Amino acid sequence: MEKILNREEGKLLADRIAKEANVALDECYQCGKCSAGCPMANSYDLMPRQIVHLMHLGDMDTVMKSKTIWLCASCHTCVERCPHDIDIPTLIEKSRMEAQKRGISAQRNVRLFNDIFMETVRGFGKSQEVILEGAYNVTSGRLLQDMANVPQMLKKDIVRPELNSVQDKEDIRRIMKECEEGGAVK
Ligand code: SF4
Ligand code: SF4
Repeated sequence: MEKILNREEGKLLADRIAKEANVALDECYQCGKCSAGCPMANSYDLMPRQIVHLMHLGDMDTVMKSKTIWLCASCHTCVERCPHDIDIPTLIEKSRMEAQKRGISAQRNVRLFNDIFMETVRGFGKSQEVILEGAYNVTSGRLLQDMANVPQMLKKDIVRPELNSVQDKEDIRRIMKECEEGGAVK
């Protein structure tokens, strides 16, 4: 695959992300405790400790093209286990945002789901499961995915057919905009 960033550009980007995440990349001594406890590791193409190592080397190209940045569940197990409290989920989240800006996604359907989820939150101030599931199934081409569960979910009130939104949608949009621009939320 074509290179998006050379090593020098990658180093600048990795250093900026690490600074924003309040992480000192050179403090990682590759003990692997983060990877050993990660519940998503079986699905990853790069282990959490490799993400930190590649960022330290400035190889953001490999990080942004990985599946891992789209599959992390942000559970923070790795941070709890790390002897240096290295905030890997924030490194991953910021790398995913940078990949998204550049139109890179090794997991097209995860990105699609993420985009639809964000648009429903922007529109209603909260997630709307009915729109999320319907729009995802149509745009991903998986028309019948999870449809067999719908009657039970409606019966048990896990999803509702009606749409509802929060009162202060503008506040939610402002917070989202500030997060996307990388600023502190006021
Ligand atoms: S647990 Fe912390 S120090 Fe050990 S490899 Fe992972 S990030 Fe590095
Ligand atoms: S936050 Fe992500 S990388 Fe860390 S343990 Fe959880 S799933 Fe794995």
